[in-house]
Amino acid sequence: MEKEKVVVIGSGPAGLTAALYTARADLKPVVIAGNQLGGQISLTSEIENYPGFFNAEHPPTGPELVDIMQKQVEHFGARIEFDEVTEVDFSKGSPFTVKTYGQEYEAETVIVTAGASPRRLGVPGEEELIGRGVSYCGTCDGFFFRDKKIVVVGGGDSAIEEALFLTKFASSVTIIHRRDELRAGATLQRRAFANEKISFIWNTVVDEIVGDPTVSSVKLTNRKTGEQSDFATDGVFIFIGHFPNSKFLEGQLAMDEHGYVITDELMRTSVDGVFAAGEIQDSVYRQVATSVGQGTAAALRTEKWLSERE
Ligand code: NAP
Repeated sequence: MEKEKVVVIGSGPAGLTAALYTARADLKPVVIAGNQLGGQISLTSEIENYPGFFNAEHPPTGPELVDIMQKQVEHFGARIEFDEVTEVDFSKGSPFTVKTYGQEYEAETVIVTAGASPRRLGVPGEEELIGRGVSYCGTCDGFFFRDKKIVVVGGGDSAIEEALFLTKFASSVTIIHRRDELRAGATLQRRAFANEKISFIWNTVVDEIVGDPTVSSVKLTNRKTGEQSDFATDGVFIFIGHFPNSKFLEGQLAMDEHGYVITDELMRTSVDGVFAAGEIQDSVYRQVATSVGQGTAAALRTEKWLSERE
């Protein structure tokens, strides 16, 4: 059993920032990285709205930011473990138990930053065709759709940003949205409407994804007219929001009805000595900049909590 002052669960912007601050406070945090160092930004093509990193021609990519953050936290003494948390026990108070596939930790404090994952449509064909035309990540899979016809499902920032990215590869990108106006911000909307490769199918939902062995079409229903149709496509990219990665915390921390960990304004959870930051507790802002801010706040409170105990 490893004894630690601070265990950070997750390695997205919130987790790496919490690690940076606690490392600089000489608390020697250990970061359990999860299955993807950097979390969701490591799958993001371009990040244009994180202040301080600007290049109009070549905006920084998610992996580039993650690489800098990793170097920064390790430089100040954080240890990153490429492992995944399977179980926690917060029931007896501090010190807490955190179990991973390979290790068991005794942690005086825990900062939970396990993030969120893409939501599924939940329609027939979706699960079966993941990796065979169904994708949740343009950066990861766009390359396989060179000169192919694809559809993007969703109308938020992610859907539009990814649709724009996918035009680099695909011959056409059709955005299927359940309403007749986009949720995405004005700049992204303007770019999408101006892009010749992008077209829209409005007020429409996907009922089924069809294909064997790979995606060949989607079955659609127009929500206004009830009209049903088949739309031929080689790929289906789904960006309809996220759910928090909080299954392993069930029964340990208070959560809302959607599984988001409940925190107060000091990033405290329902358990004294356990803090949370980033998308595991934030269903509203979900930006790199806000996650970094929440990670900072959680780390500062952790430091204070430990110093008050000594
Ligand atoms: P989101 O803003 O929640 O948008 C989800 C989209 O999917 C909405 O258009 C929604 O439709 C649609 N949708 C939800 N469930 C659906 C279903 N079952 N079937 C069909 N469509 C469905 O999620 P997001 O785009 O992933 O963005 C999440 C957060 O990250 C937001 O705060 C966003 O601003 C932020 N973000 C920012 C950037 C950026 O600043 N560049 C990039 C990516 C994400 P309705 O519109 O009808 O609800």
